[in-house]
Amino acid sequence: MDTDDKLMSGQVTGNLEDLFRFVSRITCIALLVLMAGDILFRMGEGIPAFLHISPVIQVVCWGIHFGFSFLVNRGLDEKHLSIRLRGLYLEVFVLLLFVSSLRHPGYFYFIVLLPITFSTLSAGFLRTLPLMTWALALQLFMQWLLGSHLDSNGSIAALWMNLLIVAAQYGIIGFACQVWGAAQEKFRLSEEENANLVARLGDKYVQLEEVRREMQSQYDQLRKANFQTEESNRKLTTSLAEFYTVQQISQAISSIFDMNELLKFVNDVIIGVMGVSSSTIALRNAQTDRMKVLVSSIFDKRELAVFSDFVNQDIQRGGLSVSHSMLDNDVTAEEYRFVQGRSVRSIACVPLVAKGSTLGIILIEQVIPEAFTSENVRLLEILSQQVSIAIDNARLYNQMQEMATIDGLTGAYNRIHFQNCLQEEFDRAREQGGDLALIMCDIDHFKRFNDTHGHQFGDLVLKTLSAHIREHLRKSDLFARYGGEEFVILMPHTTMRQAADKAEELRRSISEMLVSDRVISTSITISMGVSAFPEMAKNEIQLIKSADDALYSAKNSGRNRVQSAGFSGDERTEPYS
Ligand code: GH3
Ligand code: MG
Ligand code: MG
Repeated sequence: MDTDDKLMSGQVTGNLEDLFRFVSRITCIALLVLMAGDILFRMGEGIPAFLHISPVIQVVCWGIHFGFSFLVNRGLDEKHLSIRLRGLYLEVFVLLLFVSSLRHPGYFYFIVLLPITFSTLSAGFLRTLPLMTWALALQLFMQWLLGSHLDSNGSIAALWMNLLIVAAQYGIIGFACQVWGAAQEKFRLSEEENANLVARLGDKYVQLEEVRREMQSQYDQLRKANFQTEESNRKLTTSLAEFYTVQQISQAISSIFDMNELLKFVNDVIIGVMGVSSSTIALRNAQTDRMKVLVSSIFDKRELAVFSDFVNQDIQRGGLSVSHSMLDNDVTAEEYRFVQGRSVRSIACVPLVAKGSTLGIILIEQVIPEAFTSENVRLLEILSQQVSIAIDNARLYNQMQEMATIDGLTGAYNRIHFQNCLQEEFDRAREQGGDLALIMCDIDHFKRFNDTHGHQFGDLVLKTLSAHIREHLRKSDLFARYGGEEFVILMPHTTMRQAADKAEELRRSISEMLVSDRVISTSITISMGVSAFPEMAKNEIQLIKSADDALYSAKNSGRNRVQSAGFSGDERTEPYS
């Protein structure tokens, strides 16, 4: 607010100003009452009040002055008190001075002093000077007018004395106003300074607030970036863990050839990586179409039995899917009976699929609900793909292995496999100091079957004989086709005597057996030569040779008989050296 505006509106800042405004108002009211009393008093004296125009004008003027003061105090914006209003107020003020001097010099001091003091205190002494000059000039003029016209008997000296007194009074008032004005100026300056300071502080505060807001937004961005980094980090860690798991399983697949061992390893990896409470791998039996648990972390036998029994039922009922991956985070024993007796609340199951057919399932369980996510299922699917390939490869490998080691016609092992096993068994027998027996068999007059009934019937003889012998051997014995119609039986931990007894038992049972197709039915006989380590041979070549010699001897002795090595006919011969 500009100083002039302050002067005219009377609106100034500070408690002191409020005080003076208050005093001014009270004084106004006091003066109004005083003048009203004066008018009433004169009316009482019998003089009509309206003849005394001076007090009436004064009342009106003071009323206007009060009105100004009131409007300003009611919060009227100083902009509304325009220059025109300021001029009006000045005119009212001059009129006040004029009429106050007309009638009652006593009012003069109130009338003049009050606005002068007020403006001195609100706007400073310099701003008051025009008012003082106006007041002095009018006072002097009125004194002179009164002195020269109203008081015709008065001397010039008295007039001048009056004028001097008025001038002196103004001098004193002026001095006092200057002192007040200086004090007020100082006060005003300090107020302004304070206001500036507050404004500057305000600016600083605004700047600080902006900086704070900027920092907050940067902090928010940082937090967001941090969150994104953490999220990426988490995903990266998960991907790394997945990659590591997949790599581990790939390695295991290429290094572990035993299927059970491999599946056990995969199961352990799943438990370790996914933190599940249990994991089970079950494979489907193609013949029975039933899932058979191969590896599981369910240790309790009874619980595992419940699992094995009910998992197939649940699959049949459609509760458990084996055609596609599934996830259930709110498991109940009514819905999945294979969890009976265990506190399982979440399950995820993915099928093991190769070449379009289901090989089995991987089923993971957790004791808490809402435990698995689609991410878990995704990882399990990756693992299951690898495991499926491994299982399929293993099956292919087994098939090829069989094809490479088993004779297609008879189902007995072939000669190459026999040679390999003979080497291994010999080494083992040597290391452990055990026995190893070998029986060589040859069908008597086999050629005749071919010649008489055809090769197909000959083949049937070979198959029937092979099946019969295999049926009557221990698991540890190895039965192989050595040549066309010659077979060998390798018997670990067996002495020559035991082998000869077994050979005799076989010979007898074979001679009692019938080989039949739809048309022909015939019996066969075989001759057998028996040898054993360490009794008759020191190495595998000697073992075969001695058994072969014994067989030859059996043939020569009339066939359909067992001959032990070291005997020629009924005579004992020396062992090989
Ligand atoms: P011996 O009592 O002296 O052993 O007389 P043998 O007739 O059994 O022996 P030989 O060695 O003279 O004849 C063996 C025959 O076995 C010759 C061959 O044609 C036949 N043979 C070899 N392999 C097969 C086969 O896979 N199937 C058929 N049907 N015959 C075979
Ligand atoms: Mg032969
Ligand atoms: Mg023969």
